[in-house]
Amino acid sequence: MASRVVLLGVLFGVLIPVDMVPVKVSAKRKCIYIQLHLRLRAPRGLSFREGDIAYSYVRSAINCPGNACLWPKSIDGFVYVPYLLSPVYDDMDRITIETGMQEISSGTCIKFIPRTHEASFLDIQPRYGCWSFLGQTGGSQTLSLQTPGCMWSGIAAHEFMHALGFVHEQSRSDRDHYVTIVWKNILPEQIHNFRKQATNNLNSPYDYSSVMHYGRYAFSEDGGPTIIPKPDPYIPIGQRDGPSALDLHKINVLYSCGM
Ligand SMILES: [Zn+2]
Repeated sequence: MASRVVLLGVLFGVLIPVDMVPVKVSAKRKCIYIQLHLRLRAPRGLSFREGDIAYSYVRSAINCPGNACLWPKSIDGFVYVPYLLSPVYDDMDRITIETGMQEISSGTCIKFIPRTHEASFLDIQPRYGCWSFLGQTGGSQTLSLQTPGCMWSGIAAHEFMHALGFVHEQSRSDRDHYVTIVWKNILPEQIHNFRKQATNNLNSPYDYSSVMHYGRYAFSEDGGPTIIPKPDPYIPIGQRDGPSALDLHKINVLYSCGM
């Protein structure tokens, strides 16, 4: 399973118990990563190894052979990402989720549009937990935003960035220059969440303020920090207010917005 599957991201360092579960994916594409922030029922075609508790978890930038997991660019220069919103969401939920979309679309060429006939789209549902696939998988792809547990626009934006192809920031290939992973403080069964990924860092600097960065205590076993920024250990990490300026910049680079 190992090389075929990679777990992603976390979210909230404190929010809710979460399972990050490696997933076997019968994927149509090479981008076979899945992110599980909470325990969930396995979507069809996937199976999971149950994790236990957790909360955050993430990655940073994509490395997708042939750009197969990118959403296609329209001739008008925009990248349209069709979505369906579950009818289970109430008005406030919908506003929260759409705010997360706007936080991304207002600074990039990404446009989230209600799905009409498009073959590939996000099927946004309140499953158990907050999680997404990495990049476009082709066809219908579930993106789970549980209500009320995941109802923050920054969390929605975080999941949308996974769906656009971004991994957790501290999983970047160059992360060891910027953070120290405190392995001894990590729950043993969650150590896989801290593996580096072969990311394309898009020539952009490491971003402590990324909405894709884990919090300082992500998957801590005993309350001690698991990620310490360096050289300044007090640099804030793990914000979920919304995409940072660099997050938006990286989306623009990855999707060649404006070109
Ligand atoms: Zn994540």
